[in-house]
Amino acid sequence: MKVLVINCGSSSLKYQLIDMDTETLLAKGLCERIGIDGKLKHEAAGKDKYISEAPLKDHNDAIKAVLEALVDSEHGVIKDMKEIDAVGHRVAHGGDHFSKSVLITPEVKEYITKYIELAPLHNPANLTGIEVCEKLMPGVPQVAVFDTAFHQTMPEKAYLYAIPYKYYEKYKVRKYGFHGTSHKYVSQECAKMMDVPIENTKIITCHLGNGGSVTAVQGGISIDTSMGFTPLDGIAMGTRSGSIDAAAVLFIMKKENLSIDEMDRILNKESGVYGISGVSSDFRDIEEAENEGNKRAALALETFAYRVAKTIGEYVATMNGVDAIVFTAGLGENSGPTRQLICNYLGYLGIELDSYKNSLRGQAVEITTKQSRVQVYVIPTNEELVIARDTKEIVEAQA
Ligand code: AMP
Repeated sequence: MKVLVINCGSSSLKYQLIDMDTETLLAKGLCERIGIDGKLKHEAAGKDKYISEAPLKDHNDAIKAVLEALVDSEHGVIKDMKEIDAVGHRVAHGGDHFSKSVLITPEVKEYITKYIELAPLHNPANLTGIEVCEKLMPGVPQVAVFDTAFHQTMPEKAYLYAIPYKYYEKYKVRKYGFHGTSHKYVSQECAKMMDVPIENTKIITCHLGNGGSVTAVQGGISIDTSMGFTPLDGIAMGTRSGSIDAAAVLFIMKKENLSIDEMDRILNKESGVYGISGVSSDFRDIEEAENEGNKRAALALETFAYRVAKTIGEYVATMNGVDAIVFTAGLGENSGPTRQLICNYLGYLGIELDSYKNSLRGQAVEITTKQSRVQVYVIPTNEELVIARDTKEIVEAQA
């Protein structure tokens, strides 16, 4: 079965075509700046990279360009669009209705529409992707895989905020958590690497990219996670503040006479390690600035590591122990110094990093010494593969 995985953003679209009989990636690519001066960049195994020059004025053009690239005689990997058996869509927010992936029906689309108010930037783009695929590939089953679904196992005490209960009842204001597909994938891979049934494990997964979240995965299910009602909460990130005293936000708004939208922009786009360092949201730039003696860059990295370590500590308490910690995503997979900074706080767990293994890149590897009481792993995340696996399972169950 060949599954096309689609991840639609408001002006971008990432895709992968995966042969699910062998879990082989056939082609992947990216459409950027859709509606502006968009281009498609397409890569297929064993073929030259291809950049299409056709303008992408909307998502319809983008998905058309993807399908054309996939069947192209020179750069393509299939002869006919009909070889695509199913499409799996990443959907940002499934509210408290979806605890797993589902076949897309008109009712599912109504729910994705309903949750636009919870994910105003992402759900509309996801819905557009679904509708364009339905139009261009009529009859091909489509599956929605929600970023929030993995965290629907959190108990009430973890997801409720201590505010009047009526706001939960009226508006569903609660913690949802995000990056669920990634936390699910790396926790499952980690249990395999440990060679222990996942039901018997306590794993803390750290998805550290431009956005970041930490999750307590006990017995294979999420019992708490650092992102909240929105992806703003939790650890400090590239440009997002992470957790902050709500009163501090109100104080700044009053002092600077800021509107809700202005404050929203400051917390989401001007904060995090960028806000502290004043250098960049990219950890590579901040590490470089630190090496050149920039004190605020060093402070940003130290603050980031401290907050990740503190969150790990919370989850050790939540699960009454931990067997393994996993680092994943752009920063978690690539930055040995950041992993070291975080693990420096974890001596109480008997964690000891192996400096050679901690310097390796691009592979799933345990990075602790033989003596370490808790194992630490680096596991490259693969959200597209989880989406394709869920899609295959759901479509086969319908057959
Ligand atoms: P992601 O959101 O998962 O794509 O992660 C992107 C982020 O990972 C970038 O903004 C960088 O901050 C970080 N990153 C990627 N590679 C490295 C590296 N070699 N060293 C430090 N940070 C990195």
